[in-house]
Parts: sequence; structure tokens; C-alpha cells
Amino acid sequence: MLKISILGSTGSIGTQALDVIDKLNLEIKVNSLAVYRNIQLLENQIRHYRPHYVAVFDLNAAKDLKVKTRDLDVEILQGDYGVEYLAASEENNIVLNAVTGVAGLKPSIATLKAGKKLALANKETMVTGGELINKIKQSYKAEIIPVDSEHSAIFQCLRASDSNHLKRIILTASGGPFWGLKTKDLVNVTPAQALINPNWKMGNRVTIDSSTLFNKGMEVIEAKWLFNVSTDMIDVIIQRESIIHSAVEFEDNAIIAQLGIPDMRIPIQYAFTYPKRMISPVNSLDLAEISKLTFYRPDTETFRCLDLCKEALKKGGLYTAAINGADEEAVKLFISGKIRYTEISEIIEKLIVTQDYKGEVTYDNIMEADKEARSFVFSMM
Ligand code: MN
Repeated sequence: MLKISILGSTGSIGTQALDVIDKLNLEIKVNSLAVYRNIQLLENQIRHYRPHYVAVFDLNAAKDLKVKTRDLDVEILQGDYGVEYLAASEENNIVLNAVTGVAGLKPSIATLKAGKKLALANKETMVTGGELINKIKQSYKAEIIPVDSEHSAIFQCLRASDSNHLKRIILTASGGPFWGLKTKDLVNVTPAQALINPNWKMGNRVTIDSSTLFNKGMEVIEAKWLFNVSTDMIDVIIQRESIIHSAVEFEDNAIIAQLGIPDMRIPIQYAFTYPKRMISPVNSLDLAEISKLTFYRPDTETFRCLDLCKEALKKGGLYTAAINGADEEAVKLFISGKIRYTEISEIIEKLIVTQDYKGEVTYDNIMEADKEARSFVFSMM
């Protein structure tokens, strides 16, 4: 039996994961749920799934929830400690980490140290701490199953051969709503325009990050650590329809790709059932209806963030942790109308060029670099 903890259960990935669990014809027990503060929805989830443990980051929200669930047999834990406790709990054998932001790093570490299967949807885990995570994963013999659609695709495609014969990873990107535009057109982009993604329904930061290609840059970093490849083995290609979720090329020049309707429930389900496959609630892809797939090289002159992420990765150390924090703050400033769209990449570039983030990749150093990078962004205002 699959015993699952879902960290970030009220978010986009969390709710889709619960939908997968409802529809899977498989014995699955949701043993624990964790959220930041959306306790209205969390209370409904508790009444439906009856987990033994629940963790809430926000202390006041945790107190409210305790009152609301007095009639139920559930233990409500609080803060950082609660989420870490759930991740390491004996009660589960798989942890879906769908926490938003760098707050997801700690529970990922706790999951791996408990030697468990980590279904990883939190991007920041590998972006900020890839080097550290791989060390922990190895010493505790734990397993990571990627949930991000591209990395799930790569993970699936790699099963076609021995990874020794891998030539390159082809990471696909939709290109976002501003594909085809140039910098002069982007200067006056409004938050409302940037918050639309034609193919995927996602949270605010990742939607903006998809439009700037910062999200793709983060995914290059994730791919490097998840699949242990050199950065120059990862090619990014625009696949406008988001039908090919990524591909790999082997030494014999055979390319294996994973295709499907853009719906996160496919990669989420695969992380749960791997190495098996099961019937999905997602519709089958009708290739004749799609009729054509279009590909382009990314315009890295206009969308600077992709190369900036690669640059940070080459610099190593804590640079990727720093640019992640800086981007998150820059995106918030853009959404609240305080900076222009094009300033997001300018701020990140300035950070990479002027700041020193060489340093050992430890948990404390990552959090420190994250904090410093955020203050750096504010110091520029
Ligand atoms: Mn993705």
C-alpha cells in the first residue's frame, strides 16, 4: 500500500495530486498534509482524507485549525518543525513535496534523510541545493522521482537506455506569452499580461518566470543535478504547443520524447505509480487533432534569464540559491508595479556580476545566500 504525505496540499500541484489519488484504482492512504496557511481548504481535505497528521507553517492558522477540527482524530503540528516531522514520519513511504519556494528545501532534506521516496515538485530544492541534495540522497540511499513535467518526461525517456549512452537532454519550453517579442516591446508589459500562460495553469511566480524564461533556467539547473549531466549537455528548445514535454538523445542519435496533453496529473501520477503505469483521468492525446508541432531556438538575447541561470550554475557554489531569491523578490516587485518587466533580468544580472556567492553548499549557507540576495534586490530600489 502507498502511504503518502502531501506537502503543499492546497496549492495547484497538491490539489491535482489529491485528484489523481481519488481517481487511481490503487490502495493509497493520505497520511499527512501540510500547508502554509490556507486552512479553509485544508479543513475540507482533512474531513475527506482523514490524515493522522497535519502541519501548518503559519502559527496562527495552525491554532485556528485546531479549533475547527476538535471533533476529529488528527494531530495538528506547527511551523517548520511540523512539516519536517511529516516528511520524516514513519507513517508514509512517499512524500510529495509541492511546497512553494525555498521553504521546500528543508522537508526535502528530511525526506531523503529518512531514506524515503521523494516525489519532487518543489523546484527550489534542486535549484538552491542540488549539490547538497545529491550528497544526502547518496548517503541515505534515498530516491527522487521528479514531478515537474519536463523532468518527469526526461526521467521516463531515460528508461529507454543506459544513462551511460546519453548524449544530450532536450528540455522543452512553451516560450510563454511574449515569445517572438523583442526587448523594446517588453519594456511596457503589465503584470496582467504576464500572468497569462496559454498552455499551463500555474501559480503567479512560475507564470511570470515562464514568460521571462527564468523558469526554464531553473529547470536547466534542476536537470543538471537530477540527472548528473554537464550543463552543456542540456539543450533548451521552444515547443510552442507544450505537447512534447522533453526528450533525450542517445549516442546513436535516437531521440526519445514523451508526449501528452499538458496536464500535471500525468507526471504526478507517474511519480506515485513508478515504475508501473496505470489508467489516468487525463484524456488521450489525439495527434491528428494537434496536426502539427512547432519548434524554435530560444531567443536568449531578449529573454536573458535563461543564460543568466546557466551562468549562475557555472559559477557554482551558492549563486543559484542567490538568483532564485533575487528573482522571487524581483517578480513580486514587478507584480506590485514597482519595477518594469525588463528589470527582472537586469537585477539578476547585476547580482551575478557584482556579488560574491562562492561558498560551501550547506543548508545554512543556502538560507543565508537567499536572504542576502533578497536584501540586494531591495538595496537597488
Ligand atoms: Mn516545468
